[in-house]
Formats: sequence, C-alpha cells, structure tokens
Amino acid sequence: MSDADAEIEDGNRDFIRDTIRDDLRSGQHQSIVTRFPPEPNGYLHIGHAKSICLNFGIAEEFGGRCNLRFDDTNPTREEQEFIDAIQTDVRWLGFDWGTQVHHASDYFEQLYDWAEHLIQAGKAYVDDLSAEEMREYRGTLTEPGRDSPYRNRPVEDNLDLFRRMRSGEFPDGARVLRARIDMASGNMNLRDPALYRIMHTPHPRTGTDWCIYPTYDFAHGQSDAIEGVTHSLCTLEFADHRALYDWFIENLPVPTRPHQYEFSRLNITHTVLSKRNLAQLVNDGHVAGWDDPRMPTVSGLRRRGVPAPSIRDFIGRLAITKSDGVVEAAMLDHCIREHLNAHAERRMAVLRPLKVVIENYPEGQVEELEAVNKPQDPEDSGTRKVPFARELYIERDDFMEDPPRKFFRLGPGREVRLRFAYFLTCREAIKDADGTIVELRCTYDPETRGGNAPDGRKVKGTIHWVAAESAIEAEVRLYSHLFADPSPGAERSFLEDLNPESLEVLTGCRLEPSLAGSNVQAFQFERLGYFAADPESTSSHLIFNRTVALRDTWAKAKAKP
Ligand code: ATP
Ligand code: MG
Repeated sequence: MSDADAEIEDGNRDFIRDTIRDDLRSGQHQSIVTRFPPEPNGYLHIGHAKSICLNFGIAEEFGGRCNLRFDDTNPTREEQEFIDAIQTDVRWLGFDWGTQVHHASDYFEQLYDWAEHLIQAGKAYVDDLSAEEMREYRGTLTEPGRDSPYRNRPVEDNLDLFRRMRSGEFPDGARVLRARIDMASGNMNLRDPALYRIMHTPHPRTGTDWCIYPTYDFAHGQSDAIEGVTHSLCTLEFADHRALYDWFIENLPVPTRPHQYEFSRLNITHTVLSKRNLAQLVNDGHVAGWDDPRMPTVSGLRRRGVPAPSIRDFIGRLAITKSDGVVEAAMLDHCIREHLNAHAERRMAVLRPLKVVIENYPEGQVEELEAVNKPQDPEDSGTRKVPFARELYIERDDFMEDPPRKFFRLGPGREVRLRFAYFLTCREAIKDADGTIVELRCTYDPETRGGNAPDGRKVKGTIHWVAAESAIEAEVRLYSHLFADPSPGAERSFLEDLNPESLEVLTGCRLEPSLAGSNVQAFQFERLGYFAADPESTSSHLIFNRTVALRDTWAKAKAKP
C-alpha cells in the first residue's frame, strides 16, 4: 500500500470522505476537485471556516484541488471590499487556491448560451408575470402551482424576448427567464424556477456588460461543471435544490457531471452565524465593524488574537453529518486555550492596579529578577528579567480588607508570595477621604528571594505584580459573549439578546516593561488569561485584547462523571 492509500485508509472519517474514498477506489474519479463558493456580500464567519476546512482539507488529504470561487451573481449586494477580505481570511486560515481565483461571473457568457440552449429545447421560457403573481401561481407545500399564461410561448418568441432582456430593453423585474419543469412538483424548487433576472446594476467585475444576471441555482452547478468539480459540498438547506442541480446537469451539454452533497451547518451558542444578521450588527453600530473582536467573523477572531491553527483544530473536532446541531461556544474557547497554553509565553500585567509600598525595601533600589517564560516548557523558552522595586502594583482584587477564611491572597497582616520575587506582608491599607483604598503599606522578607522561605514556612497564595516606575501603561479590552442568551433570536429579535456587558475597556493597566512595542504576538498574562496586541496598538498607546480567559469551564464540565 502506498502512503497515499494509507492516508485514504486511515484519514478522517465522515460520510463525505467515505464517499470520496469509494469514488477513488472504484475509479469513478481519478482525482478530487472541490470548491469553496462564498458570495461576496459580507465577511467570512466561523461557519464558513467549517466549509473552508472541509473543502480545502479534503483536497489536501486526497491530493486534489480546491477552487476558491466567488458566487458573484447578485451585484446589488456584492462589494470589492468583501472579495478582498474573503481572500485574506482564507489565506490566513492556512489554505491555498493556487494561482487562479474563480468567479461565477467568469462564466456569464457560457451560462447565457446554456440558457438559450434550454429555450431552444423548449425547456425555458420568458415569463411576464409580476413577482407577486408568480408567487401566487407557485402554489404552496400542500397545493400544486398553476402554469403561467406565458408558459407555452413559442421558442422564437422566447429567444427574441430573452435577447431583448439582455440588450437592456426592459426595466428591472419586467420579465424573467424560467426553467420549464413542473408546476405541480412536490419539490417547490422544480416549479419552473427563475434562471435570469433583469437588474440594471453594474457588476464589480463585468461592469455594465450585463443587465440580466443568473440566479444562484442556475449558476452554481454549471460553474461546478465548468471547473470539473467532482464533489460539490454545501450545507443542508440546499438538499431540496439538489434535484434542480441535477436537472440542469442532465439537460445541458456540460463538460463534467459534478454531484452535490449536503452537510450540517455549524451553529455556535451565544452568537449568530448569518451574514445578514452580522451585517446588521455592523451597519447599526452594535459592534465596531466586521472585525470587532466580539464578532464570530474570521477577521474578528484574528483581531481578538485567536490563532488560525486553533480554529482548524476546533473545526476538525466537529462532526460532518446530516443533522444540524449547536456547538458550545466554550468548546471553541477550549481549543483556543489549548493552543495558546502550548505556544504563548507568560508575562505579568496588572489590569486594575493598586499601589504597594514596601517600607523595608531600600528607596531607589531596583533588582532584576528571573522570570520563567513558559513553566510548562522552561528549557525551550528560557527566562527573562523583571524589575523589582520598592513601589509595585498588584491587582485590586488580590487584596481584601476583611477577607473570608478561604481567601488566600493579601489582607491586613497576611503574607503572600509575589510571583518570582519575595514573601510580602501587608501592614496597613491607606484610604482616601471617600474610604477607597489607595495604597498598601507592606514589608517584605529579604530572605525569601525567588519565592521560598529558608525557615520552611509556607504561604497559601501567590499573586502577580509589576514594579511601578518601570511599568508601561496600556489599555486592555476584555470581551465576553456578544449575546447573553445561548440561542440569540430564539424567543425575540436577536438584537434584544445582545449582551450589554460584552466589552469592558480598562485604561491605566500596568504591564511589565518587556511588553513594550506593539505586535500581535500572543501572551498569557499570569492568572488573567491570554492576550494579544490589537492591530491598532501603537508604542504610544498600547492596546491589548483578551483573547480568552484562563478558566476552562468546558473542560471542567467534560471531566465530570
Ligand atoms: P450566511 O447564511 O451566513 O449568509 P451563506 O451560506 O449565504 O451564509 P455563502 O457565502 O453563500 O454564505 O457561503 C459559502 C459557503 O459556506 C457555502 O457553501 C455555505 O454552505 C457555507 N456555509 C455558510 N455558513 C455555514 C455554516 N454556518 N456552517 C458551515 N458552512 C457554512
Ligand atoms: Mg449563500
């Protein structure tokens, strides 16, 4: 058995890959061609990532090819900005479509010829019914439709009218070209579906060449056939379109005969995955843009600091099945955390600073203490120096004036370990006129350098800190679910389920000096989570985004018996 065969044997299993293995073994196909066909009417979201990983992944696994093809058949909704963003995102996810980007619009002339072919064969006609009349004639799921009075137009009339549609003689919506299939079909998609609509709208690629545009259904399968796509993978809502997909392939002189397979969409709790809803969030200003770090878009995840491999890992764990389900948002967080835990170095940062003055530490003295970059792999990643001095910042909630017994951090008279440094005891909390604690007066034990007492005494808590003078200041943005409800929109408008506390902006945060300079590299801020510099961060205004917090509720829930 060759290596390739071994991969075919032992690779991922799901009904699509099983079908592909069978098709390769039986000789039905010599090589596999898939495609990812986004409509450029928005940015890609993590649901698209499932389709991308599936289509490109299959091409990689079976030594085939995956085309990126823009389904650009509706110029009223599509924009160049989206075309560019989609390419950036697919590349960032780690996939490559070769040298050529494909577009449904590349095939407009061929599709037009095939439409005339159907007319010649008596299988398509120009209909003058209004959109509303057409809806009425279409019938319902329980009632058959009725034939349009224009259904039996002579071929010559249809050809003439269709050519005049193309030449721009009629206004938008005046006529449509329809397939002539079966108005009584149990499958609504076969009740003489529209093939061409009149739209006097310039197209980002074809300009004003066309004022009629093919429908998705008429363009999709034929584009697949032109590109030699063998397995056309789409989501379940297209299952009822397959009969139509096949009807076109059977009734047109297409060069190849692709087959459509449907798989389950990705749905995730606490978010929406529909471009229409995401566009509304952007356009109505509920978020800062398509790449707002709370958005489930690929660009939003990237901006939040989510590494591409953790998205691929997440998608790889999803079932490719025939039934839709909803995946816990916590599972995505878990994959992100797992990746960052293995790859991110640790740093110290204080988000809500409280000043500490160490009364017995010499004024003006600074020590450079050794801090481990990655405790889980200290050999590889080494150490760095962090400055220690008389004045520090600690996290405000690491101190309690009247702590309960189980609180192992700082309180009056209590001793804790400062990470990588010394034992510290709190002597007094200083308050301002309003009673707010503004400073802690403390002492340290010089014998405990490195965090251990020679007399063997123990402390229960270890807290992080940053030396005050050398600290750098930053803005830190904390994110939580964009939607408070696990299934936004289930009970009411999805907008009403927006979480008013999804973004918390902290200013005046203090970071250890090694974090100076802005780049998007990911770090674990000790005890706080994983963070990455925002793309808009500059050396004069540092901005960090929290990618994900440390607490792993998902793994904990899974571990329960
Ligand atoms: P939306 O519903 O978000 O507007 P769409 O299906 O209209 O998505 P397209 O640009 O047409 O968006 O999608 C490109 C491809 O991505 C299609 O093959 C589609 O089936 C797939 N896709 C879209 N959303 C998901 C999802 N949630 N899970 C898996 N695949 C998806
Ligand atoms: Mg679509």
